[in-house]
Amino acid sequence: MALIVQKFGGTSVANAERIFNVANRVIETYDSDNDVVVVVSAQGDTTDDLIEKAKEINPRASKREMDVLLSTGEQQSMALLAMAIEKLGRPVISLAAWQVGLATDSNYSNARIKRVMGNRIQTELDKHKIVIVAGFQGINKFDDVTTLGRGGSDTSAVALAAALGAELCQIFTDVRGVYTADPRIVPNAKQLTDISFDEMLELASLGANVLHNRSVEVARKYNVNLEVLSSLEKAPGTVVKEVNSVEKMLVRGVARDNDVARISLVNLDNTPGKAFQVFGLLAKHKINVDVIIQSIGRGGKKDISFTVPLGSLDTVLDVLEKNRELIGAEHIDHTENISKVSIVGVGMASNTGVAATMFEALYDAGININMISTSEIKISVLIDKRDAERAVRAIHDKFNLGD
Ligand code: ADP
Ligand code: ASP
Ligand code: MG
Repeated sequence: MALIVQKFGGTSVANAERIFNVANRVIETYDSDNDVVVVVSAQGDTTDDLIEKAKEINPRASKREMDVLLSTGEQQSMALLAMAIEKLGRPVISLAAWQVGLATDSNYSNARIKRVMGNRIQTELDKHKIVIVAGFQGINKFDDVTTLGRGGSDTSAVALAAALGAELCQIFTDVRGVYTADPRIVPNAKQLTDISFDEMLELASLGANVLHNRSVEVARKYNVNLEVLSSLEKAPGTVVKEVNSVEKMLVRGVARDNDVARISLVNLDNTPGKAFQVFGLLAKHKINVDVIIQSIGRGGKKDISFTVPLGSLDTVLDVLEKNRELIGAEHIDHTENISKVSIVGVGMASNTGVAATMFEALYDAGININMISTSEIKISVLIDKRDAERAVRAIHDKFNLGD
């Protein structure tokens, strides 16, 4: 008997028919003599709808109360799925995060899992029950509900798989697996049979939301057998695994991230310590800064531009405004009209000319680059938001990644 963790995303449990579809797939696994732990997301657009509801009441609601609200979406799904499985005549129980002891830190709305006490789940498995767990949520040391960040149910599933020593963690979603690009943007994107943890982590962090980036981190750390596959059709999925057995492709995939804002500090004094002042301030406010560019100083002045997640833009502007004198910028400029488009591949590290090819694709498409950032296995460009999908397709074509 093996233990298998199966996670079903929002589209997969969107309505009664889909819930019964999921129930049948879970039962198939259970009836093949496996222990099954199921993690569910909120149905369809429930999380977005809850956010809208909150905005009607208080656009500046505390993160704590937002987490109380958002966690209810997953709790609805877990109960509904359990009811479907009951109806189909199998023993089942649904459990919320506090019941399974999924402990997180207190970073409301983006909490990290610290520990999973698996004993309640084990007790239920020992009674041969199918266990349904609410994804996306945990509890902190104050016994408050926390959530793990958008898309966080993947991380709940992988963390449970690691804690319970599951044989396999299957992430069921609305596409067949991981593709060379979002198949909704690039119709001829190719499904990958497998992908390394490193590449998947980069892709996920750079906007390929098919997996929550932390889920990949946890899977790599605890060597969880991780697979992404379709809940809607029976087809082979994509295996995410250690690098050695994966074919080394120059470019593995293209990702787009719209969750970016750019801020520019114009005409700062060209003196030592400016970058430290600015980014020290932002670090104190726990702002995640991504791409940074500083211009060569001229006439005793210089500019610094950087990007942050869209969600922290207001906070950043607040902080900069309050410290305007200290920073001494002539003016502070920002835009939300920007996207990050990236290519990822472990084969890139040892190859020259990859960046040039990417830039050529953008040049051919008449797309202007605002900022560039590179690492061993990725190259990112920041471009106008309206060009982003076209850029993904142009780059995908240029590297011949399609079917
Ligand atoms: P779920 O609700 O199941 O968690 P998500 O919407 O979070 O589903 O993730 C699945 C979506 O990820 C797909 O519908 C697809 O549009 C998007 N996606 C983005 N990049 C990729 C990629 N490289 N491969 C597959 N899907 C991708
Ligand atoms: N329901 C949450 C969200 O929409 C978590 C998830 O789906 O993984 O972000
Ligand atoms: Mg998701």
